[in-house]
Amino acid sequence: MTFETMGLPPWLLDGVRAMGFERPMEVQARCFGPAMDGRDLVVQSRTGSGKTAAFTLPLLAQVKPTGIPTVLALGPTRELALQVHGVIEQLGKPGGLRSACIYGGTGFTAQLEALHDGVDIVVGTPGRILDHARRGTLKLSGITRVVLDEADEMLSAGFYEDVRAILRMIRKIEQMFLFSATIEPGIENLISDMMVDPVHVNLSGDRVDVDRIENVAYLIEEEGPRIRSLVSVLESEDPGAAIIFCNTRKTTESVTAYLRRRGYDAAILNSDLPQKQREAVIQRMRDGRQNLLVATDIAARGIDISFLPCVIHFDLPDDTQQYIHRTGRTGRVDRRGRAVSLLSARDLHNLKRIEYRYGIKLERAQLPSREETLKMLALRRIRELKEKADCQPVIPDEFQAIAKEIITDPDAETLVAMLVDQYLSAGTTAGGSVSSDRGYDDPTRTESGDGASPGGHGERPRPPRKDGGSRRGSGGRPGRR
Ligand code: AMP
Repeated sequence: MTFETMGLPPWLLDGVRAMGFERPMEVQARCFGPAMDGRDLVVQSRTGSGKTAAFTLPLLAQVKPTGIPTVLALGPTRELALQVHGVIEQLGKPGGLRSACIYGGTGFTAQLEALHDGVDIVVGTPGRILDHARRGTLKLSGITRVVLDEADEMLSAGFYEDVRAILRMIRKIEQMFLFSATIEPGIENLISDMMVDPVHVNLSGDRVDVDRIENVAYLIEEEGPRIRSLVSVLESEDPGAAIIFCNTRKTTESVTAYLRRRGYDAAILNSDLPQKQREAVIQRMRDGRQNLLVATDIAARGIDISFLPCVIHFDLPDDTQQYIHRTGRTGRVDRRGRAVSLLSARDLHNLKRIEYRYGIKLERAQLPSREETLKMLALRRIRELKEKADCQPVIPDEFQAIAKEIITDPDAETLVAMLVDQYLSAGTTAGGSVSSDRGYDDPTRTESGDGASPGGHGERPRPPRKDGGSRRGSGGRPGRR
C-alpha cells in the first residue's frame, strides 16, 4: 500500500509528503481501511512504529471543519498530548481543520481562547479536559470519535475514573480507537459498553524489540553508590545522547545534580518541573541541544526523540511493562538503539520478571574500573577544554603567567583540581532547577563539599595550603575529593 492508493484527500497527501513520510508504516496501512469503514480499533504496536499517524490520518480524512469539536484524543502525559497535537495540527491545518491541546500545569487563557474561537479536534490529558467540560468551556456533546493513546495507561486505576467521566459526557461515540504498545487481551472489556466489535490489530507490540535494540545490563556492586556506577556506564557507553530513567523524582534530582557537578550536560524532567520547563527540555533534546535527560516515567510513554541512541534504566522499573515503554524511546522507526540497565543484586528479581515476561536475556556487560572511569572522564573534560580554548584564542597573558607558575608548583595537582571544580560548578545551573546531590553517599566527598545547597552550589572549599597541610586529602588524592 502507498499513501497515494490509500485515498487520502490531496491536502493530506501533501502534508504526509511534507513530513517526509514516503510510504505508510505497517500499523498505518493496517489501520487505515477499517478506520475509514467506521470500525472501532484496538491496536497493539510497538513504540516508535508510527501509531500517531495511524489514528491521525483516518481521522483527518473524515472530519469536517465545523468549528465544533467532533474528535477527542486523550493521552496520559502533557508531553505526549503536545506531541500528538503537533502532528494533528501540522497535518490538519491545510484541510482547514483546527485543533486545541488542553492539558494541565499551564494557564487557562490560551486554551479558553482556542476553544472559544472554535476547534474541530481536541487533544489533551484527562484532568484538564474534565475541568473545561465541567465549566462548560468545552462541549463534549458533539464528539463522535475518541482515541485513547497509551490506552492501557488511560484505562488503569490512575486515569480510569476521569476517562469514564469524560466518556459519559459524550452523547454518542461512533468510533473509538485504543492504541498502545502494551495491551492486555480484553482491555476493551473495561469500556465494552462504548465499543462495538472492534478490529484488533496486533503487531506484536508487547515484546522487546531485540532485532534493533540491544538490551544490556551492567553488573554493579551493591555497596558502592549507584550513581558512581552510572558515571562508569556513561563513560563506557559514551552514548552521545540518552534518557536516564529513574523510579522517583527524588532520584532524578540527585542524579542530575551529581552528573552536572561532574561536568555532564544533564537536564531533569519530572512532574515537579513547571510545565514550560518540561516542554523546553524535551525540545532541547529533540533539537540535539541537550545530551542527557534524567527523567521519571513521565518521559516513558510516547515521547518521540527520533534519533535517541540510548536509554539507561538507572533503576529497573517495578512495573515490567515500563521496561518496554522506556526502552521504546530509543530505536525509533528503523533506527538501532541501546537499552542499558544498572543491575545490582537487589534488581535481580525485577530483571528475572522482565526477562521471563518478554523472553529475552539482557547481555551482561562489565563495568570499567574506577580508575578507568576517572581516566576516561578526565580525557573527556580535557577534550572539551581544548575545544573551548580553540574558540577563545585570546587568553590574557596574566592568566598564562599564573598557569605557568601553577604547573611547576608542588601543589599543582590540587590547584588545578580546585580550578576544575570551580569551572564545573559554574555550569551546574543550566537546564532546570535541581536540588543537591546529597542523596548519594559519595565517599569521596566531604561535608563541606558539593551539593551542599540547591543547584549543587555548596559552600566552596577554601584553597588548599601550599604546604600541602591538613586540608589536603590523605593518600595523595588531589584536594578534598
Ligand atoms: P510514533 O510511533 O507515532 O511516535 O511515530 C514514530 C516516528 O515515526 C515519528 O518520528 C514519526 O514522525 C515517524 N513516522 C510516522 N509515520 C511514518 C512514515 N510513514 N514514514 C516515516 N516515518 C514515519
